[in-house]
Amino acid sequence: MACEDLRIGHGYDLHRLEARPPGGVGRPLRVGGCDLESEVGPIAHSDGDVLYHAVTDAILSAAGLEDIGQMFPNSDPLNEGRDSTEFVEAAAVSAAAAGWELVSLDCTVVLERPRLAPLRTAMRSNLAGALGAVGGSVEKIGVKGKSHEGVDAVGEGRAIECHVVALLRRR
Ligand code: MG
Repeated sequence: MACEDLRIGHGYDLHRLEARPPGGVGRPLRVGGCDLESEVGPIAHSDGDVLYHAVTDAILSAAGLEDIGQMFPNSDPLNEGRDSTEFVEAAAVSAAAAGWELVSLDCTVVLERPRLAPLRTAMRSNLAGALGAVGGSVEKIGVKGKSHEGVDAVGEGRAIECHVVALLRRR
């Protein structure tokens, strides 16, 4: 396969975390479509799923398409509280329409607590489903969690972030 038939895309996202109601306005802490037990949750226009947002950008970027902010502006009331699964699905449909399919996707979620490990399998499965249009499957998808060792905003539990790389190949 020629190198020009392969494209890497990188996605990154961060959300500030605040107390859940009634103490604050944090949304439920949802990562990769899974709800995590947490006293804090993301400040976000949509559901604030940091993994899905970074995946959406990685796929769009590899396919040479507009980014998540352009496709789904946070000024649009339609995106208020929106299930971010729809962003991933839309990115996959757009990338497939542009002639791309998924080779692999590697995701690193950085948060201090809770531990992500018990939900990694479910997250991979959710992503495989949402990326169906580009041939997503569990074997192509990795998800790992890292702590931030107690330092800076992420380490102090005030933010959650996610890094993703996607590799696409031309169909
Ligand atoms: Mg986001």
